Amino acid sequence: MTLASVVIVGAGQAGFQVAASLRHEGYDGRIPLIGDEPGLPYQRPPLSKAYLLGKIQATNLLFRPADFYTTQRIELLHDQATAIDRLNRRVVLASGAAVSYDHLVLATGAHNRPLPVPGAELPQVFGIKTKADADALAPLAKEARNVVVIGAGFIGLEFAAVAAALGANVHVLELGERPMARAVSREMSELFRQSHEAWGVHFDFRQGLSRIDGDNGRVCAVQTGDGRALPADLVVFGIGVIPNAQLATEAGLDIENGIKVDASLLTSDSRISAVGDVASFPCLQNDEQHTRLESVQNAIDQARAVAARLMGKPAPYSALPWFWTDQGDLKLQIAGLSNGYDSTVVLGSVEDKQVSVLCFRQDRLVAVESCNRIGDHMAARKLLARAPKLTAAEAAADGFDLKVWEAANRD
Ligand code: FAD
Repeated sequence: MTLASVVIVGAGQAGFQVAASLRHEGYDGRIPLIGDEPGLPYQRPPLSKAYLLGKIQATNLLFRPADFYTTQRIELLHDQATAIDRLNRRVVLASGAAVSYDHLVLATGAHNRPLPVPGAELPQVFGIKTKADADALAPLAKEARNVVVIGAGFIGLEFAAVAAALGANVHVLELGERPMARAVSREMSELFRQSHEAWGVHFDFRQGLSRIDGDNGRVCAVQTGDGRALPADLVVFGIGVIPNAQLATEAGLDIENGIKVDASLLTSDSRISAVGDVASFPCLQNDEQHTRLESVQNAIDQARAVAARLMGKPAPYSALPWFWTDQGDLKLQIAGLSNGYDSTVVLGSVEDKQVSVLCFRQDRLVAVESCNRIGDHMAARKLLARAPKLTAAEAAADGFDLKVWEAANRD
């Protein structure tokens, strides 16, 4: 290994993992890890779920305690990277300092798409991205009586489940026609809709909002697109994210819905890689179209792949995408990508909330969504990683068991 320093911009899930994996692989050079958030690097998933309910403490969010960074010689710099000087291979920081690199990894993540309506600036209107967001939101969530959630995607629904559990009246506005429509099948959407309604959550589909009203600087109502005023003392929105690609754009790197990378996660500059939420990569499971995935699995696996490449073990990135969300008593785990599916087979019992939906495209299994069926999810991950020959007809046969089929078809 001849690289004297690998600089990482972004100390979130992917940036942290690049640093940890480099050391794990035996890299001995410098690793400056530049992050613009305060404190030690932490995980985000609990921020919209267990952390808000007080079930997880702040220290449990941390990837590693402080001494890890010292012993692993990872130089955590609390600063913001403001420019990449590619000619001189330096990253310029907001503090005025500059850090030289032999290789640079961009792991800058994404920020919440802002809510484009009057009133969005009121202090009781939240997107959830950072620990600071969750810390400010938690006490308001505990006191709120009327909560309006904008967007029935993962984050919106995770928060809706939390707010309902805390005793609030919860109203969800969603422009689409069903929950989590971009990511899950109709069958799974339906199970989640029914469960949320049973917890007291009210849905308004095909519905937007025109503004948020305040009274003395406090949210008091949300005006729906069709002219109704919903009482509200707290508004939480989750309407998608925008990749933090500005640094890369200004440095002249190729951009395509995020920082464009090739199959080995290199940008258009062979000295710079990009990983995690910000990286748009040719995704095997999406017909090699450039795709951005927002998940812990994607951040970790891409980080590991880059660390391995930098340590002389290059391989095209091909990890199977998987994802999870926790809402109330529902744990949904998704293996593969279901976009473009044309048929489904449902296993299990909707009544018991233990369901797996197998999604097929042209009779090829492309994704398995498992709700409270962890065994199916684990089997699906193994199966999908090796292009299974399972047909929809086989899966629909009486007594079909995904785990048994997986074990019997391991050749
Ligand atoms: P991030 O973790 O967002 O880290 C990027 C970091 O870079 C940030 O700290 C940012 O401030 C910093 N940064 C950006 N620009 C600069 C700069 N110029 N200089 C210095 N620092 C910079 N995924 C799942 O799989 N399951 C879940 O249940 C789940 N739940 C989630 C819940 C919430 C509330 C959120 C927000 C995300 C959730 N995710 C979940 C998604 C998952 O957390 C992300 O996909 C993952 O964190 C992406 O890692 P990343 O390193 O690419 O980006």
